[in-house]
Amino acid sequence: MNGSNHPPPRVDPGTLLQLDGDDWSFGRSLTPGVHVDVVLVRLRTDLAHLSDEWMWVLGHRPQCEYTHVEQHPPCLELRVRITALRRYGPTR
Ligand SMILES: [Zn+2]
Repeated sequence: MNGSNHPPPRVDPGTLLQLDGDDWSFGRSLTPGVHVDVVLVRLRTDLAHLSDEWMWVLGHRPQCEYTHVEQHPPCLELRVRITALRRYGPTR
C-alpha cells in the first residue's frame, strides 16, 4: 500500500460521526464552523492528494431517512480532520 505513511483511520460504515466545527472543513452545502452529524458511508481513499491531516468523508445526514428511501448517493461529503476520525475506530 503506501509504505511508511501512517495507515488511514478505519471507521465502520453506519457509525455516527459527531463533528464540531473544528473537526471538519469544506463540506458540500454545509455552513462552516457548525456542528455536523454524519452517518458514515465510507472514507474516501481513492484520491491522489491525500493529506496527513484531512480525509474526505461520504455519508448521510441522520435525518435524511437514508434507510427508508431508495438507495441514493451519499448526501454529505466533507473533509474531516483525521484526528477526529481516529476517535471512532482502531488506529491500526
Ligand atoms: Zn442521504
